[in-house]
Amino acid sequence: MLKIWSNERPWIISALLAIALAGLIFGHWWIAATVVLSGYIIWLYYRLHRLQKWVARGTKASEVYEDEGFIGTIIRPLYHQKKTYNKRKKRTKDILRRLHRNISALPDATVLMNDQLEIEWSNEPAKYLLGIDHRKDLGQRIGNLIRHPNFLRYLITPDSKKNIEIHSPMDSKISLHVKIVRFGRNQRLLTARNNSDQKQLQEGLKNFVANASHELKTPLTVISGYLEMLENDPEISEMGRKSVQAAYGQAERMKNLIRDLLLLSKVESYQLQTDEGDEVVIQEIMSNTMTAVNQTCNSGNIVCEIPQDLSILGIKSEIEGICINLVQNAIKYAGLEKPIKIKWKKNKEGEAVFSVKDQGPGIAADEIPLITERYYRGKQLTSGEPVMGSGLGLAIVKQASSKHGATLDIQSTVDKGSSFTVTFPSYRVIKSTQPSRRNVVDIRAAG
Ligand code: ADP
Repeated sequence: MLKIWSNERPWIISALLAIALAGLIFGHWWIAATVVLSGYIIWLYYRLHRLQKWVARGTKASEVYEDEGFIGTIIRPLYHQKKTYNKRKKRTKDILRRLHRNISALPDATVLMNDQLEIEWSNEPAKYLLGIDHRKDLGQRIGNLIRHPNFLRYLITPDSKKNIEIHSPMDSKISLHVKIVRFGRNQRLLTARNNSDQKQLQEGLKNFVANASHELKTPLTVISGYLEMLENDPEISEMGRKSVQAAYGQAERMKNLIRDLLLLSKVESYQLQTDEGDEVVIQEIMSNTMTAVNQTCNSGNIVCEIPQDLSILGIKSEIEGICINLVQNAIKYAGLEKPIKIKWKKNKEGEAVFSVKDQGPGIAADEIPLITERYYRGKQLTSGEPVMGSGLGLAIVKQASSKHGATLDIQSTVDKGSSFTVTFPSYRVIKSTQPSRRNVVDIRAAG
């Protein structure tokens, strides 16, 4: 306040001197005072008007002017603030321009959305991968431009999955790997990568494995047939028989591996529709399962509980694949010294639940998420000889389950045992005309 008046003081003193001088010369003090003060007020008004105009135009640094009086004390800090603001704005603009240039150069489509899922920014690849044009589509809701149901679901709950795969809305031959993350105030950042090449490579590899396995199947069956014949030949020496037995064992292992590879490639080929599949009678597939693992239900430590009238809609070989692999693993890893419980049931929700429980060595907690990956073999917790395997069994179980819309749950405690549960949705359960009788049925290994 003091500074304001000290700056204006020379003008006030000059005005008072002018009044005094005019009063002395003309002898009319009141008229002199009125004229000089009116002039001062008009001049003050003009300066205030100029200040108001400068402020209204945004205190532009280029239009700043000097005022020696108290108005100068208002102009100067405003001018400095504006200069600092301009510098910051320029720096932020430079950073944004560089960021924009860098993100635009990325081969991945990138889209920023606000909390209303409206597009706020997108780069050039978003145009040819997702059909989002940053010149036209800003402010549009992304759900109106990309209408893929999986994408819409993922957009609303991006935390439910790590990423999804969809076909590009611009070209259905392009497969996109889409990832959405939340940031700031419920805004979303979307990135989409073209992974068609990788997909093609994977497909090629899968086809090669499937074809090679198919080609190997027939000669191997012939070889193991001859080896089986030789093994039973009464004229063969004891040494020779042992060698033939070893060769037969290895041929059988290869046959199993090929069977698993073929089944896996078949299971992965497509997703079942909810009403797709044949009637699979659980009694029948469990009978085949026990034959495949060379065991008998309810003899020794294998306890089975299988309802007589349970049937589900699905692909028989694949449901059998689930059963064989889970039962085989329980026998392989837990052995037959302690009970293995095999059970099928229909739960309250009308779902069909298949479970295999053993009291074997269990699986370490950090390995549980990995054991369903193909070719993954766990640390062998069994004492003694390492257990043979290909690491494909649980991959088949997982793929076949998800193909049928079923879920796979694995519970395990080291040294206590493991429990594998596959739950088939109620729409897969075929309604039986007879009342459900959940009786324990003996299924004997055929042959
Ligand atoms: P493989 O049995 O050929 O190794 P799988 O995919 O069937 O392949 O199983 C993957 C891994 O999961 C196994 O290597 C094993 O470590 C673990 N595993 C599966 N079933 C059991 C089980 N019942 N008890 C303990 N470990 C198991």
